[in-house]
Amino acid sequence: MKKVMLVCALLIFAAFLLYDKAYCPDEMEESLNLLTPTETKHAGTVTPVHLPTPLMPKTWTPVPAKENKKTLEIRGLVEIPNEDGAFVIDLKYATKDNFMGKKIYTRSKCIIHKNTLNKLVNANKKLNSLGYKIKILDAYRPYSAQKILWDAASDKSYVASPKNGSIHNRGAAVDITLTDQKGIELKMPSGYDEFSKRAHIDYRGCTEEEMRNRELLGKIMVESGFKRIKSEWWHFEDTEGKKYPLLDIPFERF
Ligand SMILES: [Zn+2]
Repeated sequence: MKKVMLVCALLIFAAFLLYDKAYCPDEMEESLNLLTPTETKHAGTVTPVHLPTPLMPKTWTPVPAKENKKTLEIRGLVEIPNEDGAFVIDLKYATKDNFMGKKIYTRSKCIIHKNTLNKLVNANKKLNSLGYKIKILDAYRPYSAQKILWDAASDKSYVASPKNGSIHNRGAAVDITLTDQKGIELKMPSGYDEFSKRAHIDYRGCTEEEMRNRELLGKIMVESGFKRIKSEWWHFEDTEGKKYPLLDIPFERF
């Protein structure tokens, strides 16, 4: 009888060992390690805490900081990316070097409508292949700055009335000139914002070289989707510019 009881006891012990192994496999022991000791002991429900690095979800991959940087866009306006120095940027209204002799823009940020930017980049690539660069003197101009320029301009025929606004206020006009690859300006028939006949695109009282430079800039820009205006050789408007709204977003927002 004792032998029978001993055998029974051994069988029960063996069964208990098998049961324990079957319902508490290694993977489950591992997953329990992800829970805090207090939670396993006391909480009715348990929640995982910080996953150790090897167990981070496989879909997560670190993104290098450079790729992570997004271009800020407000109402279609973006800052011209110029890390590679493809353009020369010298916003005259962000300095005192303009017809008013004082700073009009609160920041020196070259802002433009993203679609106009694409056209300008194409124009610059064509000019690069000829050994030149576009120098940007003005691009997006907040509507409130337009009013300041209008009030200050002695000859109103050279500044767009705030009544209708300027294409600059839509981020779709640029004032530009040409430089060589070193950033030295090419000769043009007049200075920037010189409100005289010398600034007109049909002015012929200049040198051949000045006329050639003005016409090269005009030709490439027109080919790239811009139109010229008669009174300023430096001013170019995106042919689709009137589609975009007049804006008064301050430079600080970008
Ligand atoms: Zn202009």
